[in-house]
Amino acid sequence: MIPYLNLKKINQPYEEQILEKTKEFVQSGHYILGEQLDLFERNFSEYCGVPHTVGVGNGLDALTLIFKAYIQLGKLKTGDEIIVPANTYIASILAIINAGLKPKLIDTNLKTYNLDIFSVQNAIEPGKTKAILMVHLYGQINDAKELRQLAEDFNLLLIEDAAQAHGAMQDGKRAGAIGHAAGFSFYPGKNLGCLGDGGAITTHDTQLANCIRAMRNYGSEMKYYHIYKGCNSRLDEWQAAILNLKLQDLDFDNDKRRAIALRYLTEIQNNKVELPTWDESKNHVFHIFVVRVKNRTAFQEHLLSKGVQTLIHYPIAPHLQSSMTEFEDLQLPISEQIHREVVSIPCHQMLSFEEVSQVIKAVNSY
Ligand SMILES: *Cc1c(COP(=O)(O)O)cnc(C)c1O
Repeated sequence: MIPYLNLKKINQPYEEQILEKTKEFVQSGHYILGEQLDLFERNFSEYCGVPHTVGVGNGLDALTLIFKAYIQLGKLKTGDEIIVPANTYIASILAIINAGLKPKLIDTNLKTYNLDIFSVQNAIEPGKTKAILMVHLYGQINDAKELRQLAEDFNLLLIEDAAQAHGAMQDGKRAGAIGHAAGFSFYPGKNLGCLGDGGAITTHDTQLANCIRAMRNYGSEMKYYHIYKGCNSRLDEWQAAILNLKLQDLDFDNDKRRAIALRYLTEIQNNKVELPTWDESKNHVFHIFVVRVKNRTAFQEHLLSKGVQTLIHYPIAPHLQSSMTEFEDLQLPISEQIHREVVSIPCHQMLSFEEVSQVIKAVNSY
C-alpha cells in the first residue's frame, strides 16, 4: 500500500540530528524565544528574500496576527472587507473573521484553482474593500505581478496565505515576498513541517513586523509592559531547531516533488481525469497534486484496490460549512464543483520511482 503521505519516512533522515539537538536544547535551559528561533527567523527571511520573519504558534495565528496588527497600526479597521478565494482551506477565512474583518468570498479559476485577476477586479468595492488575501493553493503561485499591480492601483493591502507554498517562486519572488505580508504554517504535513504546530509571518514592513513580534508575546516589547492587547503565540525553540535543519533541504525536496508531478503530467493518460495546469516553472511546489474526476468515490475505490491511498482537499466548501452561517445565501458554483470533484494523489519527496509508476498505472487503468 502506498500511503497518501508518509511523515515517518519524511522525518527519519533527521532523527539523529533532532535527538542531538534535543539534548543540547534540554541542557540549554532556555525554551522560549531564544537563539534557535532567532536563527530560524534570520534563515527563513534570507530564504524568502524578506527583511523580517516572525515565528508564531501556527499558520492560523500567523494570518490572524497579520490582520490584527494592521488594525492596531490603523491600516485596517473592524468590519473592513477582505477579498479571499472561496476555494481554500477554512483557516484563510477564519483568520479574517477572527480578526473582526469581513471576508468577501469569490470564485476561483477552474484551471489554476487560484484567484482570477478579473473576478478580483469585479469584486473590489472602493471604500469597502481594503485587502486581498491571495492563497497559493496546493502550492502554486498565480498572477503575482498582476495582483500586486491591482492592489497598488486600488490602494489595497496584498496578503499571502503561503501555508502550502514554502519555496514557490514567480517572477523572481518567493512565496512570502510577494505581498505586504504573508502567513506560513509548519504543520507536519506541509512542505516545510516541524514536529508539532508552528507558523511564521514574513514581511517587508518593519513596523508590521515589530507590532506582530510584540503581539505574539502578550503585546509586549519589554517584559511586563503591554502596549497591545496581544496573545500568546510563539514558535518554540525546539520546533525552530528542527525547522533550521529541514529548511536546508527544502529546495531539494521541492525539486523532487516537481519531478514527480512532471511524471504524473506526462504519463497519466486518462480522459476521465482532469490534471492540474503547470508551466513547469518554480511557481509550483506541489504541496498537493490534485486531479478532478466526475465520479470521485469510484475513482478513489479503484486506486485503493490498486494499493494507492488518496485524500480529498477539501470535501466541503468553506461557505457550505455548518459553522459559516454568514454565507447561507451565497452561491459559488465553481468552488462547489471543485469541492465535489477533487482527489489528491500521493506526491512527496520520499516516493520511489516505482511507487510513482504504480500510482500512474492505477490512474491510467481507471
Ligand atoms: C495549513 C493551512 C493553514 C493553517 O495552518 P495551521 O498551522 O494548521 O494553523 C492556513 N491556510 C492554508 C491554505 C493551509 O493549508
